[in-house]
Amino acid sequence: AKSRGRNRYSHYLPCLTTAARERFELERSLRRAIAQEELSLVFQPLVELPAQRVVGAEVLLRWHSAEHGDVSPVRFIPLAEDSGLIVPIGAWVLHQACRQGRLWLDQGLPLETLAVNLSPVQFMHHDVVALVREALAHSGFPAHALELEITEGALVQQVARATDTLKALCDMGVRVSVDDFGTGYSSLAYLRRFALHKLKIDRSFMQGVPVERAESGLVQGILDLGHKLGMCVLAEGVEQQAQLDWLVAAGCDQIQGYLISRPLPAQDYVEWWTARLSE
Ligand code: C2E
Ligand code: CA
Ligand code: CA
Ligand code: CA
Repeated sequence: AKSRGRNRYSHYLPCLTTAARERFELERSLRRAIAQEELSLVFQPLVELPAQRVVGAEVLLRWHSAEHGDVSPVRFIPLAEDSGLIVPIGAWVLHQACRQGRLWLDQGLPLETLAVNLSPVQFMHHDVVALVREALAHSGFPAHALELEITEGALVQQVARATDTLKALCDMGVRVSVDDFGTGYSSLAYLRRFALHKLKIDRSFMQGVPVERAESGLVQGILDLGHKLGMCVLAEGVEQQAQLDWLVAAGCDQIQGYLISRPLPAQDYVEWWTARLSE
């Protein structure tokens, strides 16, 4: 019976390698993740320099799968993008995030920025403006407190469309930031063309700061570039006090990273923030 079971299985997926089969299984589970309530949000504080005032948080998605355990977004986001599942998942994230943000404002937390990641797939192929308008209207979350993070690749692929989308979001009062800045191999021309609020320096650049001269020089260059263009600049992946000290001296506007806090579930985030407010 055992060997027949195995035969039957290989009959279903005759030409898939182990890796491809794993992917297939993961996608099948992901397809049910929303309905099974396996997805959740965590919140990583964003801190303003030099005073280290908390301005809000970046929303990050977590998946605890009944079949596969905790799966990293680094693994399941690309899968969701390839399969189109990112559209319902991304919509779920935005609606949930705005609802949570509204709750916090009602509780009196001075939340200025709730940053939500938008996949390039959502940004380019779907009516993201309608989605954002709907999420804001349903939740009552204020547009001016919402920040959308997109990678530079999303901006340079369909320029005309990106221009219209960004203009519509800007008219609504929503801010847009460039995520993973410096890793997208794109020209910098788009920085002039679009109304972008913030540059987020990718955490790979922070690893050599402040010890490596070349990397520190790169980060200083991005700070100067962003500031010349009137943008806010945030450094991601700050893990050490020496990095923070260097960033303060370099004039960085905001930071995010394990030194301040790991991403936290909603309840823990409120407790962390409340404790900090009363310090
Ligand atoms: P990202 O948008 O660049 O998010 C920052 C990632 O860096 C997060 O990983 C965060 O936990 C991690 N991180 C923050 N501070 C530090 C630090 O000090 N050191 C180190 N080593 N890492 C730090 P996470 O949560 O695993 O997310 C990975 C990526 O998955 C995100 O990168 C983003 O591209 C994607 N992602 C996560 N949630 C969503 C979502 O809701 N929608 C979309 N479209 N993508 C998402
Ligand atoms: Ca991000
Ligand atoms: Ca990033
Ligand atoms: Ca990243």
